[in-house]
Amino acid sequence: MKKFIRCGKLFDGANPAIYSDQTLVVEPDGTIGFVGPSHAAPRPESGDETIDYFQWFVMPGMIDAHVHLSYGNTQSAEQIDLYSPVEFRALRGLEGAQRMLAAGYTGIADPSTTGLVSLAIRDAIDAGLFVGPRISTAGRAILTAQGVDYFYPRWVRMPEHSVGFLMRDVSEGIAEIRQEIKDGVDFIKLAVDGDQLVAGTGLISGMTQEEVTALVSEIHRLGRKVAVHARGAEGIRYAARAGVDFILHASWMDEEGLEWALKNKCALCPTLSLIINTIEFTRPADPAYAFVPAQQRELEAAIENLSRAKAAGVPFMVGSEAGFAVTPYGEWPARELEYYVKYLGFTPAEALISTTAVNARILRDSDRLGTLAPGKLADLIAIDGNPLDDITILQDRSRIKAIRIAGEPVSVALNDRPRRTWYETGARFWEEVYTRDRVNRR
Ligand SMILES: [Zn+2]
Repeated sequence: MKKFIRCGKLFDGANPAIYSDQTLVVEPDGTIGFVGPSHAAPRPESGDETIDYFQWFVMPGMIDAHVHLSYGNTQSAEQIDLYSPVEFRALRGLEGAQRMLAAGYTGIADPSTTGLVSLAIRDAIDAGLFVGPRISTAGRAILTAQGVDYFYPRWVRMPEHSVGFLMRDVSEGIAEIRQEIKDGVDFIKLAVDGDQLVAGTGLISGMTQEEVTALVSEIHRLGRKVAVHARGAEGIRYAARAGVDFILHASWMDEEGLEWALKNKCALCPTLSLIINTIEFTRPADPAYAFVPAQQRELEAAIENLSRAKAAGVPFMVGSEAGFAVTPYGEWPARELEYYVKYLGFTPAEALISTTAVNARILRDSDRLGTLAPGKLADLIAIDGNPLDDITILQDRSRIKAIRIAGEPVSVALNDRPRRTWYETGARFWEEVYTRDRVNRR
């Protein structure tokens, strides 16, 4: 049985045009057999299904290239790694993935996970056990003792079920890469940034050029892609020179980094949402309030450097870093598109192409996703309104009228008010130390 979807307006993800009165034919295997003007479309035969999206704007399902399913909307660094059992993180992450799907995201990529959490979520969805988006995932992020995710003191070191793998030298990094690929990751994440901030250029790299180059060539030799976490100019240069596939953040990208990124066809995935949401949402009682001024400086640098990269023709992906308390799953992901238009010089159509066609690069089956064309998989959403007139409508879930993966309608029933279990938050008993002095001041 084929499906004939009549679309009032259609945006195919391949180019910036909007086509009116189109018909999209989905073959029984979920691929698109035809897409074009309704008058030129083949006719349905008896038994075929016709679907009327004549009132809606139909586009490829959105893809978020930066979601952390194991983080659980975390409020602290420790919460990511320490308190909840890995098994719980997998179940919680599945619900996070469903929230992303309900927001119009038929695909997501997870650049660092604990244990095999996101791999298990991916496989459970693929096996048809649960409804969810297509997932492409890395394993633990590989880093050094200078690395940005190594937030433990030496007497703890990196816990086994951290989202990071601490390598003491390149050979340990390469051993971890081989293990992760055997485990079934789709791509590898290197956390190249260090944690020492330098005015003007961001963070000192936590790895040398030689180390990054050696890790990247092993990853590519084994047929996987590589995403690098790099905000600082130095880490970005090392990553771009080593020819990585995806550079996450890239806030302090300099001229040399830009030249290498162009030459080696690296895509950037800035993730402004984490910075801007932190600036806008954080209140004085939040510990993160102390670093809002630093976030403001990073935002200014990022807007300047990334706008230059955009103008120079570097491909941009889109990721929201969902999984933190300021970027809860499914709540703000499409806001990243608004920031691309507002701050980085994107037209709404360019932002949509980034989150569909360009983001598809990070998914499995990348050649068959991201655009609506014959031979591609029919992952699509139907929207009430035209996001090319107003990109912010994609943030309004009530405007998402239908979501289809490989042509099949999907719907998720979400709980309105999920609670935190006792072990998710750690065990802080008192906010203050009650000395005689403090008690007498009451
Ligand atoms: Zn991240």
